[in-house]
Amino acid sequence: MSRTVLVTGGGTGIGRAVAEYFAAQGDTVVITGRRSGPLKEVAAQSANVRAVTCDHTDPDALGRLLAELPEHIDVLINNAGGNTDLDAESGSEADLMSYARAFRANLEANLISAALTTKALESRLSAGGSVVQIGSIAADQASGSYGAAKAGLANWNLNVAAELGPRGITANVVSPGYIADTEFFRDRLSDERRSALVEATATGRAGVPSDIVGAVAFLASSAARHITGQVLNVNGGARSTR
Ligand code: NDP
Repeated sequence: MSRTVLVTGGGTGIGRAVAEYFAAQGDTVVITGRRSGPLKEVAAQSANVRAVTCDHTDPDALGRLLAELPEHIDVLINNAGGNTDLDAESGSEADLMSYARAFRANLEANLISAALTTKALESRLSAGGSVVQIGSIAADQASGSYGAAKAGLANWNLNVAAELGPRGITANVVSPGYIADTEFFRDRLSDERRSALVEATATGRAGVPSDIVGAVAFLASSAARHITGQVLNVNGGARSTR
């Protein structure tokens, strides 16, 4: 049966791969992001995909998004996010103001955005539906404010699972390791760091966005209806590189 799926940050990278999967299954997919260009590009590829611009850290923008969405959402994928402070991860900020700004930006982008989106959509989620958060391997490593935000996301997901469970709605986290070919790391990683991330995997390769799709699809399926509040790592068996 066709479902209604919202993929936040669905214009690029992992979100795009996930959105394209559901659209190919015949589901109705809404994708969001702050920039309209990438969204339009994805929507142009499939009649099942609709693009709506939205900044998920902004409650007013989420209010406007609600007006654009169908009455019922079966699957919510909280994928929007990314490390807003990749270059200052060492935590060597001398200026406390800029340190605070950078730390807050990561919490906003990766934790608060997902919390606000789920809250905004809570009453629209269909019984038997599912929420999937895109976490990160960084949640289990010393990875600065980004890792802290993703760890917070995994913890906060436990609340979502508890609150929505009585309605038959599951809430789980898919936690990717290093995924190449997305805007996340593009032009931001030295060759040395890239090699270290690959060498840390058991599979000896970087992940690609399509590697994440199967885990999301499973957790959003009825086969996973008794799995909730869990974290599913999709990282090629990566061990910490820190
Ligand atoms: P991308 O940068 O390609 O995807 C991030 C998407 O989120 C973009 O489409 C971006 O669009 C959107 N986005 C970011 N902030 C907001 C916001 N405030 N409101 C709405 N949309 C937003 O990178 P990935 O595909 O790699 O990242 C997807 C998710 O996977 C992220 O949550 C990331 O943290 C996580 N992840 C990625 C890993 C990797 O190695 N690539 C590893 C582990 C986790 P726009 O800029 O137009 O808003």
